[in-house]
Amino acid sequence: MSYEAIIGLEVHAQVQSRSKMYCACPVVEDTGDLQPNTYVCPVCLALPGSLPVVNRRAVELGVQAALALHCTVAPESVFARKSYFYPDLPKGYQISQYDLPLATDGYLEVQTGAGANRIRITRVHLEEDTGKLIHQQDGAWVDYNRAGVPLLEIVSAPDLRTVEEVRAYAMMLRADLVALGVNSGDMEKGALRFEANVSVRPVGAAALGTRTEIKNLNSFRALARAVEAEVQRQIATLESGRSIEQQTLGWDEARGATFVMRGKEHAHDYRYFPEPDIPPVQVSAAWIETLRAALPELPAARVQRFITTYGLRVAEAQLLSGESSVAAYFEAVMAAADGTVAAQDIANWITGEFFRLFKEHHLSMEQCRVTPLQLVRLQQLRQMRALSSTAAKAVLVEMFQTGEVPEVASERLGVLQLSDGVALQNWAERVIAANPTQVAQYLSGKSAVLGWLVGQIMATSQGRANPQQAREALLTALERWRSTS
Ligand code: ZN
Ligand code: MN
Repeated sequence: MSYEAIIGLEVHAQVQSRSKMYCACPVVEDTGDLQPNTYVCPVCLALPGSLPVVNRRAVELGVQAALALHCTVAPESVFARKSYFYPDLPKGYQISQYDLPLATDGYLEVQTGAGANRIRITRVHLEEDTGKLIHQQDGAWVDYNRAGVPLLEIVSAPDLRTVEEVRAYAMMLRADLVALGVNSGDMEKGALRFEANVSVRPVGAAALGTRTEIKNLNSFRALARAVEAEVQRQIATLESGRSIEQQTLGWDEARGATFVMRGKEHAHDYRYFPEPDIPPVQVSAAWIETLRAALPELPAARVQRFITTYGLRVAEAQLLSGESSVAAYFEAVMAAADGTVAAQDIANWITGEFFRLFKEHHLSMEQCRVTPLQLVRLQQLRQMRALSSTAAKAVLVEMFQTGEVPEVASERLGVLQLSDGVALQNWAERVIAANPTQVAQYLSGKSAVLGWLVGQIMATSQGRANPQQAREALLTALERWRSTS
């Protein structure tokens, strides 16, 4: 029997506001050396008598994300208490949203090899992050610096069918949130976290199978691997005649398998009720329109524009559109080039060598020392065949490290290829004079020797001759040699 997977994703995205969701404590990036419990106040520590106040900026960013996801923004939404006792939540409940969320009924268009698919988004709501528990031998410690940091929760309908689609959805959502300035996209620091609901059913069946929920997936890789493993586990379970139990699962990255965190009998009863300390949040139509007008161009629209304006392939257009800084750099290069270089060549530079160097040196486009004009000049040198492709890459590495212009870097590396006719002619004649046997072989019809002779010019010139022009100079010199000997 063949099965299909039914997958929905819940995403928690830290909202990039300067202060926390319900208090004035700053949101500080945790670089690892932050002192625990320094960015806290009576509100986020839930001291008696303290009162939460909704962060206006977080609402604005939430509305913008919702609009970008084609959602309907509720004119009035309500915060609610989601009760559960766990020490990372000092209040004993999380202030979230329940039956009247910020926005509902949107979608995200995802592209995979199988084509485009519209994934419905059920709801977008605001809530607060928890603190962090640190388990050590001498006990468990809690750090509330993160408690109360604004989170945007984005819940999709169970419209995803394949791991490829899950990955495409997650990446597209991240790209949109980063472009909007809603989220840093820094998954290593936990700024974006995924949970997947997974069930399987025989192809053609109408009823949904029992679903499981996989928690705490903090990278695209973990997300894709966990969903794949869970789909396979469920199929194997059904095939062996057993049934799927409704469970909450964790993902063990090392073992490459899901594990049970809790079963249905331990399901939380959150006892939601409206937060009595926060009045309903009203978002007027005028406010929505102001926020809509301020939306930046989103990656999906940019991909389309890059394809139509620059004639790029889909894959490159997507790579260049993922981050606004990269897209802006690409466009600055194209503007600086003013038609002298091909968009595809620039796309290759950025998605190839630039991305490789960024990764190797842990740099981002913002820190890149190669200006758009310098990249244009590098590509022009390449087009003039003054640089071989290997040499051009070496020159770029120099430019990266020193900020030098390409001419200076290539001169210093001694890799500029000479297209100077006189020099090439001299080298050709020297090679002919030094290799009479091979020259005679060539002249007697053994044309394969030509490549070897070109190689001698390259060696004599220490790689500085342009191979194409060296070959032409050699042919001319050989013809002259034939007619005079
Ligand atoms: Zn606080
Ligand atoms: Mn949540």
